Amino acid sequence: MAVPARKTSKAKKNKRRTHYKLTINGLNECPNCGELRKSHHVCANCGYYDGKDVTTKEA
Ligand SMILES: [Zn+2]
Repeated sequence: MAVPARKTSKAKKNKRRTHYKLTINGLNECPNCGELRKSHHVCANCGYYDGKDVTTKEA
């Protein structure tokens, strides 16, 4: 049930919000090497994207 904002103490509010940022937004594990990698970015550790090594030049 809704509670007026001023009835919720700062301590109560802050304790509720301790779980908010347990995981970093936009960071995922690389499926190839398991390193943390920004989603939709080439992995900085192994250079893989979408299951392929995209750092090596193709002929
Ligand atoms: Zn990787």
